[in-house]
Parts: sequence; structure tokens; C-alpha cells
Amino acid sequence: MGSTDRIKNVAARVAKWHDAGHQIVVVPSAMSGETNRLIGLAKEIMAQPDPRELDMIASTGEQVSVGLLAMALLAIGKDAVSYTGWQAGIRTDSAFTKARIQSIDDTRVRADLDAGKIVIITGFQGMDEEGNISTLGRGGSDTSAVAIAAALKADECLIYTDVDGVYTTDPRVVDEARRLEKITFEEMLELASLGSKVLQTRSVEFAGNYQVPTRVLSSLTNPLMPLEEEAKSGTLISFEEETNMEQAVISGIAFTRDEAKITVIGVNDKPGVAFHILGPISDANIEVDMIIQNQSVDGKTDFTFTVSRNDYQRAMAVLESQRHDLGYTRILGDAKVSKVSAVGVGMRSHVGVASQMFRTLAEEGINIMMISTSEIKISVLIDEKYMELAVRALHKAFGLEKA
Ligand code: ASP
Ligand code: MG
Repeated sequence: MGSTDRIKNVAARVAKWHDAGHQIVVVPSAMSGETNRLIGLAKEIMAQPDPRELDMIASTGEQVSVGLLAMALLAIGKDAVSYTGWQAGIRTDSAFTKARIQSIDDTRVRADLDAGKIVIITGFQGMDEEGNISTLGRGGSDTSAVAIAAALKADECLIYTDVDGVYTTDPRVVDEARRLEKITFEEMLELASLGSKVLQTRSVEFAGNYQVPTRVLSSLTNPLMPLEEEAKSGTLISFEEETNMEQAVISGIAFTRDEAKITVIGVNDKPGVAFHILGPISDANIEVDMIIQNQSVDGKTDFTFTVSRNDYQRAMAVLESQRHDLGYTRILGDAKVSKVSAVGVGMRSHVGVASQMFRTLAEEGINIMMISTSEIKISVLIDEKYMELAVRALHKAFGLEKA
């Protein structure tokens, strides 16, 4: 919601759903740019803001939104009431700035819904056991919405956002990228964590764990568009794989541009090698993604892993500082690599996806540096120069373009 006009739009949309006989809970996030502004203020006072106090400040953006939206509904004759996270019974742990929802006491909200009211609850925030305000991490209102939908056993959780759904890949890279009508939550999880940041990853996990049918749709459409049309728009994150007939084996091609790869050469191949290399990396709070250890030759082996490019220099420094303990010959690094992945639940029942992927890359002359797979995903690490080419070629090879 970027302006009071946009808030009035949201109110009109909500009223439309309510008029059609639905019980509605709305979970807005802050107005655009507001959370950034609030965090900016905090940082003007304290470079590393105290997490509890930061949550006190950052959570206020949502409080303004809910009050304004409730008023916009009252102004058009709708009975509406707004609540903060704690008023709505949202209990979290005390991990300020990245709290997790532990329980929701929906008594008050249910009573309002039964009385015909539209209930508006702040996204992004909750309260810990001691009564402190907490926030759920950036983009956390997605998670609030799904969690509240789960608690209320809602028919569907609709997430209105600035894109009109989940695409087969980033339309900025591939013109022919197509909006998916349905995707399973597992595919969505892979796509979200692989860089198609439509929803906060945790909200997708929540939707999966509690089986909340969740639809991603555009907030930019005419709020008065026919309800039947709106109800079918966007992308539904679903659970039944067999109903996911729309696409073939692969649902989408995901990528992360900014990866880096590090190879430790000539370490002793003995128990504990991986632990001794990656232990200090994880102690430095650096997340490791792909990992391979080579066949050993004469008791020595090479060990390669990837980290996000932001962490590359730090990871190299950590390994340098461990040179003595690790006893490697040398370390090699390459910070100009990208990861491209094909994702699809259809992989479970189809063979040949990997070879098709490798053939496609070979035909484009793209060298694969590392490969990793899961049940529904194959990822390759390649030179960043070829990332867009790889994404386009794979999108085409798997027949993902518009019909
Ligand atoms: N307002 C919060 C943020 O900007 C939560 C959200 O938008 O989902 O991160
Ligand atoms: Mg958001």
C-alpha cells in the first residue's frame, strides 16, 4: 500500500469479497518504503540497533496500515476492526528481528468474524512470552498472513503483491516466461529459496506444514474486477501433485547470480576433513550451499563448496587463517559463478531430466562446474557470463514458454 488512495482501493477490494458472503481477515504490511525508513531512523541513532528496540520501531509501520485500512472500510459503511499482533493473540519466540510464530489464540478474532466484522491484523509482528513486541524478519507479513489463515482454517490465503503470480522464470531474463496457474508448495519452496523472491520463504514452509492453500496475485488490478475472475487469477500454491497437470516435468528455471566457489586443494582424506573445513566457515555465520569432495589420490583430496558472493572474501580469509590446521596445498576461488536450477515435482516420476539439462548446456557450449540434485531439483554452477543464456536455453528445452 503506497498511499491513502491505494488503501481505499484495498478497502474496496475487501468489501467486494465481504459482500460476496466471505468472512475476511486482512493482514497488511507497512506502507511502501516505511519499514526501510523506520530502520533507517534507528540506524541514525545506533549503527547496530538493539534488536528489541529495533522491533519496537520497525513494527509500527504495520500499526499505521491497519488503522488506516479499518478507517477506509468504516468510511464506506463496513464494520471493521484493527488489531496489533499481540491483540490478535500472535505469540512468538524472543528472537527479535527474526522471531518465529509459536501459537495464535484466535478467540477474539473469531468472535468478531462471527459478528460479521472484517478483521484487520498487523503483519510482521507478534509478542513474546514476556510481552515484548517482536518482528518476523523482512517480508514477514507473508508469514503472518499464512499463519493466521492456518489458525483460522481459512479456505484460502490470498497474497496480493506487486507481481501477478509465480513465473516459469524471471520475465526480465526470458521474454517468454509464463505465469503458472498452479505450483506445489515444494516447488515454490525451491523457487523461493533459489531466488524467485515472491514470498518470504518461511511463509511457504508454513503453507506447506499447515496445508494452507495460498494464492499469489496482483494488488495492481482494478479492485472492482469480477470476483470470479480475481479468484482464479495469480498462482495457486497447492498440495495435490496429481492435479498439477498444467506443466510437464519441469515447472520453472530458477537462478542465483551472485555465487562464489572455493576449492581447498590437497587436504588429507581422513575422517573430519569436511567438518574441519566447513566448521570454521559456519562459525563465521557463512552459509554454504553446494559441496563436493573429490575422489582421493594418494591420501589427498580436494574439497569444493559455494557461498554467496557477499561472503566470499570472508570465507577465503577464514580458510587462510586455518591454513596451519587444515594443512592444504592451496585454495582456489572464483567469485564469478552463478547457479541455475531446474525445478519440478515431475522429476520424481520421469527419468532423463538431468541428461536433457546437461545436453542443453553442452549444445550452448556452457561448462558445468558443479552439480547438485534433490528429489525435485537439479542445480548447476556455471560461469556467470553464461547465466542468462543458460536460463533461456533451459526454459526453451523444457518447453516452458507461452503456449
Ligand atoms: N513491512 C515489513 C517489511 O518491509 C514486512 C513486510 O512487508 O512483509 O519487511
Ligand atoms: Mg512483502
